[in-house]
Parts: sequence; C-alpha cells; structure tokens
Amino acid sequence: MTPPTKPIRDLTKSRAHWQKAVQRLPLGVASTFRYWGEERTIYVARGQGGRTWDIDDNEYVDYRLGYGPAILGYGDPRVDAAAMRGMQVGGVFALSTERELAVADRIARMVPAAELVRFSNSGTEAVMAALRLARAFTGRDSYLLVEGGYHGLFDAALWMADVARWDPASNRDPEVVPYSKGVPQTLKALAHLVPMNDTARLEAMFRAQGNTLAAMLIEPIMGNCCAISARRDYVQRARELCDHYGVLLIIDEVKTGFRVAKGGVQGLLGVRPDITTFAKAMGNGYPIAVVAGRADVMRTFRSGGAAHGGTYTAHSVSLAAAEETLRILDETPALDTLAAYGARLKAGISDILTARGIVHSFSGHDSMFGVFFAAEPPDNYRAWKTSDYSFYDRMAWHLHDLGVIVEPDSREPWFMCEAHGHDPLALPQTLAAVEQAVEMTLFDFAADKAAQ
Ligand code: PMP
Repeated sequence: MTPPTKPIRDLTKSRAHWQKAVQRLPLGVASTFRYWGEERTIYVARGQGGRTWDIDDNEYVDYRLGYGPAILGYGDPRVDAAAMRGMQVGGVFALSTERELAVADRIARMVPAAELVRFSNSGTEAVMAALRLARAFTGRDSYLLVEGGYHGLFDAALWMADVARWDPASNRDPEVVPYSKGVPQTLKALAHLVPMNDTARLEAMFRAQGNTLAAMLIEPIMGNCCAISARRDYVQRARELCDHYGVLLIIDEVKTGFRVAKGGVQGLLGVRPDITTFAKAMGNGYPIAVVAGRADVMRTFRSGGAAHGGTYTAHSVSLAAAEETLRILDETPALDTLAAYGARLKAGISDILTARGIVHSFSGHDSMFGVFFAAEPPDNYRAWKTSDYSFYDRMAWHLHDLGVIVEPDSREPWFMCEAHGHDPLALPQTLAAVEQAVEMTLFDFAADKAAQ
C-alpha cells in the first residue's frame, strides 16, 4: 500500500510556545478544550474572514469559528468600527447607557418571545441567570435537561448521561454523572435528564417530576452534540407539558440564536419558550449574552426577586458590536449567504463520500451541521454512541494538516460564516482537503486492518 501524500505542516513555533506556556498556564491554554496534545496544540496569530493563521503562518479555512461566535467572520470591519465607537463611550459605569434599549428592541423584533431582555457576558452566565429566574418565578428547585445538551460551565448544568460508558444492550438508562470533579454530589437530586425525541419518556418524566420542576432546558439543535435536532412535535409536546405542569421552558439558543434563522431555532420550530438565552453570534465574537423572555417572568429580576447583574454586563464595546452585528443579520442577506455556503459544502462532501461508497448523513442546519458515517444521523445522544465516529475522528486531524480546522471531537458541529460565502477559494480548498483527508483516513483504516 502506498500512503497518500502526507502534507507537511510546520508546527515548530506552536510546539515551542506550548513548552513555555505550560509552565505558566495549565495545559498551556486558557480553556481545556483548546489543548490538543503537546504536538498539536496551536496558537493563533490572527483570524480574518473565515480563515485563521497560526504562529507558524499555517493558514486554515476555519469551521470552528470560536465555537460559533464569528457569524460574519473574524475581524469584520463593520463590527469592529462599531466596537471602536463603543470604546469611545468608555466601558462600564455601573450605570446604564441608551444603547441597551436599542439592542433590546432589535432582539425583540427578531425574536417575538424576547419580550424583555437582560444582558450578560457569556452563555454560561445567561443560562445561570435563566435557571435562577425560573426557580425564583416558580418557587421550585429541580430542573430537566436533555441528554447530550450543554449549557455552560456551572454546577447545575454539569450533569450528563454517561453515554460513553453506557451499554446500549443493557436495557438501562445511562448513569447520570457530573461532567467535572468539584461538582457537589448534593446537587444531583435536582437534575433530571431525558433522551431527546422520546416523547413517551418525556411524558413519563413530567408525570413523575412535573410538579417539582422549575424549568426544562433544551437546545433543539444540540450545538455540542453533533447538531442532533429535536423533532418539531417533540418540542411542541414539551411546550404543552410545561404549560400543564407550570414548568418554564428555556430554549438555550447560545449557539443557534441569530444563526439558524433571524428568529432562532424557536422560529423554525414554531415554539415559543418562556425564557431564551443567546450569546455567541449576537456579538460576532465580542463577549455579550442575553437572557430574554416573557414579560411577567422577566420582571422577577428585581430586588427581592431573582438576583441579576454583573460588573461587565452591557459593556459599551460589546454592546455596540452587538448592535451592528444584529443590524447586519437582520437587514442584510448574511444568514442566507452562510447557509447557502453550508449547503454547497455539504453537497461537495457528499459527492466525495458517495464516489467512494462511504455511507454518510448530515444533521443540524446548513449554518451548523454534523457529519455522520451512518445512513441516518442520530436523533439522540444515545444513538450517537452507536454511530461510527472513529472515521470522523481520524479525518478531522488530517484536515488540520491539510489547512482546514474543524473540531476533532465529532460532537462539535461545523460552523459557517458570511465570509466563507464571500471567499471564492474557501469551498474548493475545503473540498480538496476533504477529499485528501478521506483518502488518508481510508488508508489508515486499511493499514490498521492489515496490521491486525
Ligand atoms: N449553552 C450552549 C448551547 C453553548 O453551546 C454554550 C457554549 N458552547 C454555552 C451555553 C456556554 O456559553 P459560554 O461558553 O459563552 O459560557
């Protein structure tokens, strides 16, 4: 067997930097997910449009986009100019500025369920505030999560179904375990989990726990789990059950918001949540988030009600960036441009795989999608376990060597930005890399088999 030509990617500077960085920064990085091993952790010099350059000057077409925020592309001049205007305002004052209302008005116009709006700094903070709000409003402590969902790094959200260690043949539910050490076991009793798209299980859960639940949290397109998507009837049933049992429905649109549609995934599904959380795309990378929802619920944010605030909320730079990002997403065809690019990319990947007889499918939305090596995409996190992600896992590393950055973990979708759609070379370069990565992965698998 002759191996396909191995691309040479020089990572000398990143590797040397890692050796220094690890002496001061745990794992040499600022977020554990950015650590890709001693040899492969890269450091970014800059990003522009849909591309990133590392400090060795390797150039990548980037489909991680910071896990979704760069909806228009890195360093968008329109947004950066707005951020400069925000800088001239002066930062934070522990007082409010007029622009908060302008941005809130825009959000309410785009997403009708966002009757009232509060600003936060990150997705984690927004979801924390949403859950506290739901508890304050209902007077209940428990809450329901969907297996495979991710809502940020705070204790209440760090409970998951241990699908990786679950035996699908066991006829038992996966164990509920914390994501992380340091999450108090005493909190476990408050967190309940259901598998996505299983209406019978959802109904049974509400029958058993409905009267104790403050909220059900759902990401209808799971932005951290292969873009597995909820069926419309499942979310609509969840809405009915929430109404019946007095539970607040929180749709976490931290990844889908202002990306899959102007009105988010809730608009696509025709479901009106009580509370929504937004972050990522709304600021094109500037740190800003939102918790928004029903007026009567949101007015629980008051002294004597649910606490909310924070030194940096509605920071003048992020707020101005969000104002311009949302204007562009609302008033220009940016979302159509990036979704059309995603559709073309999927079609191209499909042609490459079909030509080699490789069974595959896609999940999610053209603007954020998962690639699967199975005839149907999984419809819940348990089904992901039985899909063959080993092909993806190998292919992803080859793609990095070939100048395309995707998340090496198949649970993270590929993200599109407007700049990809305006970059005439992005698609042909990506598809050439995918074709070669597929060949290299096939070679790896054949070599593994031969060695057995
Ligand atoms: N909710 C969802 C759906 C997310 O995807 C994320 C981040 N990936 C978060 C919450 C947490 O957001 P952040 O990383 O900004 O705290």
